Amino acid sequence: MEIAPMRNIIVGTAGHIDHGKTTLVGALTGIDTDRLAEEKRRGISIDLGFAHLELPADIRIGFVDVPGHERFVRNMLAGATGIDAVLLVIAADESIKPQTREHFEICRLLGITRGVVALTKCDAVETGLLELAKLEAQEFLAGSFLEKAPLVPVSALSGEGVETLKQELARVAASVPERDATRHLRLPIDRAFSMRGFGTVVTGTLSDGSVGVEQEVEALPGGKRLRVRGIEVHGTSVEQASAGQRTALNVAGAETSQLRRGITLTDPGLFAAATRAECEVELLASARPLKHATPVHFHCGTAETTATVHLLEPPNALAPGRRGLARFSLQKPLFFLPGDRFIIRMFSPVVTIGGGVVLDANPPEKLRRTVAAERLRKLSEADLAGRLGIWVREAPYGLELSELVARTGVRADVLAGIGESAGLSLLGESQPCMVAPEWLKSAAERSAKVLQAFHRAQPLQAGLAKEELRTKEFPGVPAFLLEAALNNSSAIAVERDIVRLASHRRVFQQDEQEALTRIEEAFRRGGLQVPAKSEVLTACGVAPHKARTLLEILIRDGRLARLSDELIFHREALESVRALLAGRQGERFSVGDFKEWTGVSRKYAIPLLEYFDRERVTRRQGDTRVVL
Ligand code: GDP
Ligand code: MG
Repeated sequence: MEIAPMRNIIVGTAGHIDHGKTTLVGALTGIDTDRLAEEKRRGISIDLGFAHLELPADIRIGFVDVPGHERFVRNMLAGATGIDAVLLVIAADESIKPQTREHFEICRLLGITRGVVALTKCDAVETGLLELAKLEAQEFLAGSFLEKAPLVPVSALSGEGVETLKQELARVAASVPERDATRHLRLPIDRAFSMRGFGTVVTGTLSDGSVGVEQEVEALPGGKRLRVRGIEVHGTSVEQASAGQRTALNVAGAETSQLRRGITLTDPGLFAAATRAECEVELLASARPLKHATPVHFHCGTAETTATVHLLEPPNALAPGRRGLARFSLQKPLFFLPGDRFIIRMFSPVVTIGGGVVLDANPPEKLRRTVAAERLRKLSEADLAGRLGIWVREAPYGLELSELVARTGVRADVLAGIGESAGLSLLGESQPCMVAPEWLKSAAERSAKVLQAFHRAQPLQAGLAKEELRTKEFPGVPAFLLEAALNNSSAIAVERDIVRLASHRRVFQQDEQEALTRIEEAFRRGGLQVPAKSEVLTACGVAPHKARTLLEILIRDGRLARLSDELIFHREALESVRALLAGRQGERFSVGDFKEWTGVSRKYAIPLLEYFDRERVTRRQGDTRVVL
């Protein structure tokens, strides 16, 4: 029998203080989530609480119970991040209150799209009042993501409605899509504590990827590397945890004091924290206009910092209820990725005023405001393939695949596929780089212009050294990228380390052509009795500097071979020796034998033999050689 995999869903509570959230989670799960002594004493939730519930059809719901008190909204925010659905709690006797609104807006701004509404304490009100509370809730939710959500009257005291609520939660759970499996690990820590006999334990809602026992993880910001010693999901020890699960990790490599809420654990060596976030931001209708340069509290994941808003669009002030584009300068680095949601709260009074989605953490320097806004608009409208295209095209030549992993959190192999299907090229072996076809084309065009000028100035040269072209015209561009651009163009020919226009033909003047022939002939005639270089050049009939160039051309073209500065052979002479040796395969011989076979003096015999050693025609063994 096949066992269907357990479906793990995280549900977060939301609602005003004393509306019965904690009691309801207790009635659903049998777990009291108010675990702190202070919570017990004051009878209110202060920090996050956790519980879980197994439902039929292999559904397991992890609950994150949040405090409702206005002073603890920041704790609520840390808990609401990464939840799949909200359990909005409205007490029938009090109806909609300030934190009902604030929590609800936060859920909406965090991009939560599903949930269930519980009308609690229905035992405490008359039927008429219950109907009124229902109507008020419906009116409040009209037009929102919870408009069609089930509205379940419950009493945690009598148990009325609790079973119905479980069924509705199961239904919502079944509608939650599978988590994206193409991403790297991200676990935003919401609690860090030490446990006697265990050491440091951190917990969080695993938002992306997966983590296994013995894996190395990195804590960001800070970059501390940790080893995962053990994993628990809902109190059960497991080998691996994956996205969408409430996860507790026992980690080695850091003091408990070095880990805290706001730090994210990731796959190591991939990501960095940032101090700038370019975002689409929505201002709540209840907020005052958001002015340029306003300081705010910026919450993202379980992390928070103070930040300054730089409005990009509209430029001066964002009106309540409107959306705009803004850059947040963060007072301390946070780790986030484009696509992450954030919430902003005012300094005083500390209330939620808006939120939105991060679009970019790496904008090019010094863009004009309108250009920066236009760029963000494009990023916000693009899918992943489109965003890769924008980032790759605005970079000087392209972006390393590892940089794109750092900007998206998506695995390199997946990005490579997406990039290629979007028409981008992935080039290079050890540090592959994603480039746009336009870059390859324009680099080839620019090279062709440079080569044209070079050929005009130096018509006798076969072409320009490739490395010289790169360092002069394309500083910083990896050699393999320029190579690809040059190979891509039919107008350009690459011959080993020389690059030229495909159409380039060296045109020699009459006297140059004659000198070329004379030089080559002198070496051909000399055979193994090589003539002196200086004599050949002096006798060739053109000026010394030109004669030297012609000699270089003959060497580059392979007509002559240079064994040392003074020792130059015609190719045919070397070929004749090669043929001679080929007839003596396996023979052991001395320098003396070689002199006898070829008639060359000792002065030439040694460099020749060393040349053939290099060419792997012969191999030296002590005082003798063997023909291979
Ligand atoms: P929270 O602040 O939303 O977590 O609210 P609590 O769960 O702490 O509940 C606040 C108070 O309301 C407590 O005194 C509970 O006993 C009471 N309470 C919770 N649920 C019910 C209910 O269904 N019926 C009645 N009568 N009281 C409830
Ligand atoms: Mg509570």
